[in-house]
Formats: sequence, C-alpha cells, structure tokens
Amino acid sequence: MMHRLQVRLFAAFLLVIIVVVITILLLVLPAAEQEIETYAQRTGRLQLARMHHWLLGYHSARGSWSGVQPFVEEMGVLYGQWVVLAAEDGTVVADSRNMLFGQPFTEEWTEVVLRGRDNERILGVLYVSAESGIDEAFARNLRDSLGYFLFWGALTALGAAIVLTVLLSRAISAPVRQLAESAIRAGKGDLSVRVPGSFRGEIGELARSFNGMIADLGRAAELRRNLVADTAHELRTPLSNIRGYLEAMKDEVVEPQDALASVEEDVGMLARLVDDLQELALAESGALGLHLEPENLVTVIRRCVANLHARAAARGVALHLELQEELPPVMIDFQRITQVVHNLLVNALVHTERGDRIVVAARRIDGVVEMRVTDTGEGIPEADRVNVFERFYRVDRSRTRATGGTGLGLTISKQLVEAHGGRICAEPNEPRGSIFVVELPLAGYGPKTDSMIS
Ligand code: ADP
Repeated sequence: MMHRLQVRLFAAFLLVIIVVVITILLLVLPAAEQEIETYAQRTGRLQLARMHHWLLGYHSARGSWSGVQPFVEEMGVLYGQWVVLAAEDGTVVADSRNMLFGQPFTEEWTEVVLRGRDNERILGVLYVSAESGIDEAFARNLRDSLGYFLFWGALTALGAAIVLTVLLSRAISAPVRQLAESAIRAGKGDLSVRVPGSFRGEIGELARSFNGMIADLGRAAELRRNLVADTAHELRTPLSNIRGYLEAMKDEVVEPQDALASVEEDVGMLARLVDDLQELALAESGALGLHLEPENLVTVIRRCVANLHARAAARGVALHLELQEELPPVMIDFQRITQVVHNLLVNALVHTERGDRIVVAARRIDGVVEMRVTDTGEGIPEADRVNVFERFYRVDRSRTRATGGTGLGLTISKQLVEAHGGRICAEPNEPRGSIFVVELPLAGYGPKTDSMIS
C-alpha cells in the first residue's frame, strides 16, 4: 500500500504530464497539419509550373504532342502524381498510368491550359490528379512520427514521475514521519524527545519549532513539579507549628491563652501564602486581567508612602521622596502597580535598621519612567541578586520567616511589571543596602489597551 503522500505526489506529476501532452496535441498537431498543408500546396504549384514549362518546351521543339507519352509517364513517376495530357479537343494524348489514352477527359482534376507562344492558340490541357502522391505520404509519416514521439515522450515522463515520486516522497515523508513519531512520544509524556534540527526549509523550521515547544513543555513541567514541592515545603512549617501548639495545649503543657497568639500568627501566614500562591498562579497563567490607563506614578508612590508612614515611624525609619516634577503618565493598572510599589517599600522597611532611611525616587528616562527604592539595610549578596525574583527564594530564611514574608512578593512583582512591558531588577547600594529599580513604559510607548498578563 503506497503512502498517502506518495499517491498525492504521483497524482500531481501525472496531472502535469496529461496537461502537457494534451496541450501539445491541441497546439502542435493542428499547427503541424497546417504547415504540411501549406508545404503540399506550394510543392504542388511548383510541380505544375515545372510540368507546364517542360510540356511547352516539348511542343515547341516537336511542333506536336506525338511521342510525349514516355515523357508524361516519367513526370508521373517523378512527382508521384497521376498526370494526363489532353489535346485541344479534349482527347487524352498521354497518360502517366497508360489507361485513358484516346478517351475524352472528363474528370474534375487540377488543370493547366497549355497555350502557344502567341498566347492565342490552345495546345492542350495538363491534368493532375487531386490526390497528391509524395506529399500525402510525407504528411502521413510526419503525423505518425509526431504521435510516436508524443507516446514515447509521455511514457518516459511517466517513468520519470514514478522515480521522482519515490525519491521526493521519501525525502519529504521521512522527516514528517519522524516528527509524527516524536509528537506521539511527547504526547505519552516523554519530553526528552527531539527531532534532528538538520532538516532544511519549512520542515527544518517545523522541526526547530517542535523542539522549542517540547523544551518549553519540559520547563513548564519542571516548574510545576518544583512549585508543588516548594509549596508543600512552605506549608509544612506553619502546619507543624500549629500541630505542636495544639498537642501542647492538649497535654496542658502550655496555656491556651499563651498558645493562641502563635497559632493565629501561623494561620495568618498560611492565609497569606495561599493568597500569594493564587495571585502568582493567575499571573503565570496569563489570567490576571490588566486594566491599563494613563496614570502618574507619583500618585501611586505617594499613596503607598502614606499607607506605610505609621509603620515606618514605628520602626524609626524615615521615608524620603525624590520625585521629578511633572512626570509624564505611564500606562498602568493602578491597583497592580500599587501592589508592586507597596511590596518593594515593605521589603525595604523590613530590611532597614532603626534610624536609617529609605529613598523613593522617580524620573523619566527616554520612553520609560524609572522608580528606585533605595535602602541602607543589610543588602543582598551578589550571588542572590537575581534569585530573589524566584519564588520562595529567601536570602536569610530564619530572618524573613520571622517577618512573615511568603517569599513570593518579588516573584509576583516581577510578573506584574513585565506584564506592563516593564523591567525590574535589584542593584547594590553604596556603601550598604539595596536598590530595587522598576521601569515602566510611558503612555504611548507601551501596551495601549486592556491586556492580559502572558
Ligand atoms: P518575602 O516575602 O520573603 O519578603 P520577597 O519575594 O518579597 O519575599 O523577597 C524575597 C527575598 O529577597 C527576601 O526573603 C529577602 O531575603 C530578599 N529581599 C527582598 N527585598 C530586600 C531588601 N530590600 N533588602 C535585602 N533583602 C531583600
């Protein structure tokens, strides 16, 4: 059973051959017939003129037609025609086939009247049969040859089509089959499968896209596995704390009154973790709808600073603003960017010592507004600087857990900023502390309508 691709290719080749043969039949054959016809007519006229010339020459030399018979017979053989010469009164005086001699000529043949020098006297009439001898045979031969060449040409093309079909279909179907087999294996869960990237052209592109897709799927599967493992790990600590307190209460080792505050704290931690996880899941799946509007980032910063004013004052930390006058609006979802700024400020507050200060600056640079949150806390070691945006990553686990952080704040912030077409990164502050830099595109530079995080 032939492969489907082979059948299609062969059908395409066959169709082309049929079209070519029919075109030749329709165009070349009538043109050839026409040429043969023209050639035959021209040759006929030439022959008649020659016979006319010779016969007149004969008559003028002899003064009569007597003895002309062998001459006419020779003309008949020479031109492959039936030639008859009749006298003035219509009686046949010479016949190349020697059949009509002495009879009156009555056939409707091509005739040429032979006149004397004075052009008055009719010497006789030359008749040539309508059926042409050599020309007709020649035309038949030509037609036969054309048919012969067309037939063998089509047969050769058919053979070539079969060979080409086999070669081409092999070249095309082999990589396609490999792709299909790899797709089936990937569908069954084997994400290590790859197709050779050496294929050329569209198939090569398809192979590379396929490999890219499988690699993405592999990464996504790994992320999912890690997320489940990390989440289980994060849930375990508050849960075992709660269980410990409950057992201690049951055994009456601690007073419920003393334990309740700690249990409440751990339950609060669990609730925050669940909320953050849900938010991150929405952000990562692209389901967090963004309602983008032109807003002034200064408004967002001022609102966040006002919200944290009391907390900062309680910690003895000063919040200082360095905002550029008349900052152009940025295209943002107000709530989401407020969440980002709030998270950065809380982090800065948590990591800044009493008596120090936090500076929040905003300015325009080309097509973006840049916000910098600078603190003078313990800073982030260089090796950890990129990782702090990974989920559940904490530089100092014990310390951050004590502050109630879930380890997801910066991960969510990064997702949100990038969904706005912006950028977020951490830099070291001199001599100590960290700077978190956020860039958001100006209105007219970034996304223009409501969009989804992707
Ligand atoms: P968390 O809820 O633990 O604060 P984040 O994602 O907001 O989670 O931050 C991740 C980690 O990055 C923190 O645990 C902390 O170790 C580090 N970090 C974040 N902000 C700062 C900062 N301003 N100074 C020093 N370390 C920071």
